[in-house]
Amino acid sequence: MVTVTSYGAAQTVTGSCHLVKIGSVRILVDCGMFQGDGGSERNYEPFGFDPAKIHYLVLTHAHLDHVGRVAKLVKDGFRGEIIATDATRDIAKIMLLDSASILLEDYKSIRKKARRRGDEASVKEPLYTKDDVKEVFNKKWHTLEYFQEHKLKQHIKVSLGNAGHIMGSAFVMIDYQEENKAKRIVFSGDLGSPDRLIINSHDKIDEADTLFIESTYGDRRHKSLDESIEEFKEALVSTLKHNGNVLIPSFALERTQEILWLLHEMHDNGELPKCQVFLDSPLAIKATKLYNQYTAHLSDEVQYRPGRGRDPFSFSWLEPITSREQSIAINQVKKKAIIIAGSGMCNGGRIVHHLKHRLWNPKNLIVFVGFQVEGTLGRSIIDGAGSVKIYGEDIIAKAKVHTINGFSAHADQRELIEWMRPIKNLKKLCLVHGETEKMQTFARVIKDELGHEAHLMEFGIPLSV
Ligand SMILES: [Zn+2]
Repeated sequence: MVTVTSYGAAQTVTGSCHLVKIGSVRILVDCGMFQGDGGSERNYEPFGFDPAKIHYLVLTHAHLDHVGRVAKLVKDGFRGEIIATDATRDIAKIMLLDSASILLEDYKSIRKKARRRGDEASVKEPLYTKDDVKEVFNKKWHTLEYFQEHKLKQHIKVSLGNAGHIMGSAFVMIDYQEENKAKRIVFSGDLGSPDRLIINSHDKIDEADTLFIESTYGDRRHKSLDESIEEFKEALVSTLKHNGNVLIPSFALERTQEILWLLHEMHDNGELPKCQVFLDSPLAIKATKLYNQYTAHLSDEVQYRPGRGRDPFSFSWLEPITSREQSIAINQVKKKAIIIAGSGMCNGGRIVHHLKHRLWNPKNLIVFVGFQVEGTLGRSIIDGAGSVKIYGEDIIAKAKVHTINGFSAHADQRELIEWMRPIKNLKKLCLVHGETEKMQTFARVIKDELGHEAHLMEFGIPLSV
């Protein structure tokens, strides 16, 4: 008897967590955080299964919506083995430590307010602490190269393929025997477009009995990467020439390194007007160091075009900003600055204070280069809110807003279909990691293009495969 139950990313894009039961063996694929509206409350809820009974945890990649609850899983009793690529393990560590410090900051600020109301008892402890994160990395890890097999209990095998989404990202293949027949379940994880700027493109497979595929952009097609790069360059150059500032809310992983790589190229080619470029994110600075460490994951072009200090993501106008004081000092820079800061969806991090100081000014430009989940500040700005509340203050949104979706780390509808097309003998196709309406659109296209009926996974409801 084989079942799969989704405990997250079921008709939503966050909280990825799927439990595979093959006989008595329990394998969890990802253990991510819920983000956006109501996300923080959901993260406190029990998992819906007993973490102590999970034998293996396989991680597809190090984004928090895929690894963000691993420290809670360990705290709640998980004692099994963790399987991932080496890059995912190391990136997950900096992501989880960063997440723990954000949780602590949030906790302190909520507690302060509650104390003033005389209601301190109602405040929940942080979901996990840095010590809980350290415990995760004291557990048994088994790192895999792409397409290297790892034998689990009862002749089950796990292997990973390059998902081309962020550095170290993987799709997961679980091979097992059922009634003397070889069977395979595949989880796509988050799949990247075939055209990526800095990492190698995704691998493909031609065998799977059951496939769980992400559907973040199952309803749409992206512009081509080349077109997006042109748009990005034009928007930047025009704002800088008119003495404006450019804010780029950026995800610390992959997107930041892509933007740095592009700016480095523009700088070297003489396309970038003289400006100051601030990378205002200690997390992105740490992530960039790891990108330099796992160069085998980088495309040939990036590997062979080293910049300052042999770092392809660095150039002479770039100023990495670590301290809060330096970050605040950027407010004094009146013109011709590019500020790259997290978080990517503007729901926290240093980008928020930069938005407070610059969103009102029509000379400035905000460039969104990633998906904005419903309920985040980034989504409100993109959706054209005339004004937004930042730190309790109403800020008028007069800056130009530009959304460039061709940088997406997620494959679009056509690319997802093309990734699935070579897979033979597929018996069950399940959609995860998408908003319901997008999944429904995607399911119709899958039926037309590939002839498969797609099942939309529902939270907590086991599916026999
Ligand atoms: Zn991801």
